[in-house]
Amino acid sequence: MLCDDIVHAELVGVMKLAIVGGGLGGCALAIAAAQRGISSVIVEKDPGWTPLSSGIFLYANGLDSVRKLGALDDVLANGWSSTDGKNIYYDQNGDVIAETHYPTSMPGVIPPIVGIMRSALHKALAARVKDLGVRVIIGREVTRFHDSGTGPVDFELSDGQSETCDVLVGADGIRSSFRRALFGPIEPEFTGFGTWRSLHEKPKDLNAKIMMMGVGKRLGIMPLSDTMMYIYATTNEPDNPRYPRELMPSIMQEKLKEFGGPATNLLPQIKDPEAVFYTAVEEVALGLPWAKGRVVLIGDAAHASTPYMGQGGAMALEDGLILAEMLAASGANPETLLAFGERRYERCKFVQRVSRSVGDKGGLESAADCQQRNINLRESGQQDVDNFYKRMFAGN
Ligand SMILES: Cc1cc2nc3c(=O)[nH]c(=O)nc-3n(C[C@H](O)[C@H](O)[C@H](O)COP(=O)(O)OP(=O)(O)OC[C@H]3O[C@@H](n4cnc5c(N)ncnc54)[C@H](O)[C@@H]3O)c2cc1C
Repeated sequence: MLCDDIVHAELVGVMKLAIVGGGLGGCALAIAAAQRGISSVIVEKDPGWTPLSSGIFLYANGLDSVRKLGALDDVLANGWSSTDGKNIYYDQNGDVIAETHYPTSMPGVIPPIVGIMRSALHKALAARVKDLGVRVIIGREVTRFHDSGTGPVDFELSDGQSETCDVLVGADGIRSSFRRALFGPIEPEFTGFGTWRSLHEKPKDLNAKIMMMGVGKRLGIMPLSDTMMYIYATTNEPDNPRYPRELMPSIMQEKLKEFGGPATNLLPQIKDPEAVFYTAVEEVALGLPWAKGRVVLIGDAAHASTPYMGQGGAMALEDGLILAEMLAASGANPETLLAFGERRYERCKFVQRVSRSVGDKGGLESAADCQQRNINLRESGQQDVDNFYKRMFAGN
């Protein structure tokens, strides 16, 4: 029984999408489709439909997508905005290496950087999904689908109900079962790094994003609202360990103990296992195509990236917007879905490549390499930011 449906609204338009996964990509697609008169249903397996975890950073291109989806005011009201885009690099002792500024594509409208709790970003998108009357089935999965190639795509939910749609979308994240069903066992690749995140009260005088560059590790100090911030750290974890949740605070503290300066007062606050998150850093290397018949992948399912550029979520949001735009323009046919992947592939690969290279630099272990990296940051850090965003703003 689909009694958990959040909204049952009259479906608009003749084309119907079934979107499996109500994360950033799935919500973006449902909103952008509804904005174009295309109806959709989201099938989300999490019965609470709320992401756990700490914060997320969105930069100007991701924020422009949020604006197009009609959720910018909500995100700005609930997150921390940097109007000057300042990012200060320190070494592990707390000495400043360099200051860079992130750009915006729409000064005065979109800030260059916003940090926000993941749950608050989700809430803003879910509110738009609801306002637009999109039907959401929570606590269910799609267990089976059949694309005959001629009629609608049939699919079955985990409660046994059957439905049909014109396009079935796998927006089911990095461990996508749709990716496996379409293209076989292409599993996320472990990159040798782990990320640590811990939630803290924001010091009143913290008004910039901070990145501290250590030896074999990095530590970010990232505001999320007027009152909250999180530490985001990366460590080399070549053996891909599994850490017990109750020990995570002490392990995180131990791994980051050499960081001083702005981290000094924060590290002893890492105590609550519920406020500490460890994630093995993985990437999905899927070539083209991203679609088969009338089933297509978007977001992390197709191109999960390492997190160092803060762009994975932004790419998922863009995917949703662009797929909706292409479906509205060219119809629900296999050619549109293949063309979607072709349009997005290079941009998502570019993000993966740049992010991986930033991550590798953060993991350097020899003192000489770290010293050279810091010199490079001082000399060309701003240029690197400008070059990256020139590409991000140049069209998607
Ligand atoms: C440590 C870390 C830090 C990051 N920081 C940033 C950042 O600062 N900025 C940024 O832009 N990106 C960041 N990212 C990347 C970002 O989180 C992802 O790229 C983004 O969440 C991808 O969105 P998505 O919709 O594709 O997948 P997800 O957000 O993972 O959503 C997938 C959804 O599908 C659901 N689902 C899964 N399987 C099924 C199923 N079988 N049936 C139904 N539903 C299913 C899940 O419950 C989930 O709701 C970070 C990633 C990591 C690991």
